[in-house]
Amino acid sequence: MDKIILQCNNLRKTYKKKNHLHVACDDINLYIKQGECLGVVGESGSGKSTLANIIMKLEKADSGTVILNDKDITNVKRNELKEVYKEIQMVFQDAIGSFNPRLTIEESIKEYVCNLCSTTEEEKKHKVDNLLQMVGLPKEYKDRYPHELSGGQCQRAAIARALSAHPKILVCDEATSALDVSVQAQVVELLKEMQEKMNISYLFITHDLALVSSFCDRVAVMKNGKVVEVGEAKEVINNPQHEYTKLLIQSAYL
Ligand code: ADP
Ligand code: MG
Repeated sequence: MDKIILQCNNLRKTYKKKNHLHVACDDINLYIKQGECLGVVGESGSGKSTLANIIMKLEKADSGTVILNDKDITNVKRNELKEVYKEIQMVFQDAIGSFNPRLTIEESIKEYVCNLCSTTEEEKKHKVDNLLQMVGLPKEYKDRYPHELSGGQCQRAAIARALSAHPKILVCDEATSALDVSVQAQVVELLKEMQEKMNISYLFITHDLALVSSFCDRVAVMKNGKVVEVGEAKEVINNPQHEYTKLLIQSAYL
């Protein structure tokens, strides 16, 4: 059986709102196997990004645990985060905003490579070239600034930066949602290719159910902070069990 690479146990996260406690994640239990793509769908505000941010150590859960590659990372200290980020990386919806506007793509990726593992300048440059080639960005784009790239190109650069750490898992939070349909398809193809070549796993947050059918192995459906249904992606889409999933699918194909 394939190894479980990420496991979330009983994750709970609340935010204080004016006069009540809002439960953004409510007892979430999920796992992702090596090389598997787990989709996460659900309406806006259902807690998808909160879940991703807890896994990425950008938010702290009130309770519950996150196990990454057999290690409990729930309470890792700041100085241990580097080791965590060698195994798990994130790609955001706003790729341009995730780059420093004053650095060229090469400088940004080099800085990142440099942060996670120490190599010589020559090795770093070589690595950037390889990464850009891998994600299908022409070499000369490395000298461009983020705003000089199109949305799809910038997303490829963000994927290259994430892959520079050789992660076992990529968390994609609506990473393709802002792209035109054809560009989106190309970026998803790239992610699939990485999955095959590098056996990368994905936590793939999207509101696009067609994408779930074509890219995800399994899918978790979230509503009000809870996972209401989880199963094989095609099975859930073709034969939803929970009322909310049925509604979600109906509204997507209206
Ligand atoms: P989704 O990504 O599914 O749209 P989010 O995880 O962003 O949902 O948000 C879930 C809920 O938690 C929302 O009601 C949102 O307003 C709330 N929330 C998220 N982040 C914060 C925060 N930093 N402070 C207060 N409330 C937040
Ligand atoms: Mg979100």
